[in-house]
Amino acid sequence: MRPDTPNTFHSERFALITGASRGIGRSIALQLAEDGYSILLNYHSRNDAAENVREQIIDLGQQCHLVPFDVSSAKETTECLSDIVKQFDPSVVVNNAGFARDGLLAMMSDEQWNDVLAVHLNGFYHVTRAVLPRMIRKRYGRIVNIVSISGQTGVAGQVNYSAAKAGIIGATRSLAVEVARRNITVNAVAPGFIDTEMLSELPSDEIQKTIPMRRIGSPEDVAHAVSFLVSEKASYITGQVLAVNGGLYT
Ligand code: NAP
Repeated sequence: MRPDTPNTFHSERFALITGASRGIGRSIALQLAEDGYSILLNYHSRNDAAENVREQIIDLGQQCHLVPFDVSSAKETTECLSDIVKQFDPSVVVNNAGFARDGLLAMMSDEQWNDVLAVHLNGFYHVTRAVLPRMIRKRYGRIVNIVSISGQTGVAGQVNYSAAKAGIIGATRSLAVEVARRNITVNAVAPGFIDTEMLSELPSDEIQKTIPMRRIGSPEDVAHAVSFLVSEKASYITGQVLAVNGGLYT
């Protein structure tokens, strides 16, 4: 085991996960807690849901601190994370927070466009910029960005969302090159259709027929991929996009 791997200070490993009160982020938080990480759990407004995840993480024997802030706000993110990063020094960051505001481009409002780019693309930038200097200094870090099949293929009604996710894929590749010498890996996980509130408005029977595996993915399917990418076993993998989509064509 190299001295700079997090396993040498196992009990103190912290992972910051954005949007972890529900859905995919919640499963990632629980999985990383099982993997031995303490969790810095970001969310936006649903305190009860976040508190519930916190209790489950504590039951798993790990620490969990709730860090609510709006990732799309540079000011809120910087103010909230400056002390948190100093205090807990996370080795892992998962940029997961987000939402879709679907609509055809010809009828899209400025708000739909700006809000989606702000939460995904700016959110990635605000959070990653806040944690990266310490990772660079300690020469260790794992960054995983949750993107989407929508950023890899065309999806009608999601021009804003596809643009944001494709932007993060580009950023993942460039940042991976920028920090590779510092033993920091930067990867993306691209889910297909995953059973969360985000999908609740869509017809699941119709969707299943389009998926080669004939099932909608679970949040745990995504969490397992993240667990691998932050593990020591993935230490030579960087700048990649790992699809978790049941065989959908990308
Ligand atoms: P979800 O169940 O709707 O959960 C969204 C999470 O993001 C919640 O924890 C929410 O916090 C948080 N959030 C929303 N806006 C935020 C903000 N401005 N600042 C901080 N946190 C914010 O969504 P999901 O389906 O798990 O999606 C998670 C990620 O996976 C997203 O990036 C999404 O684009 C991506 N994805 C999802 C699917 C899918 O099929 N579900 C497919 C591909 C990619 P509150 O609880 O406080 O609102």
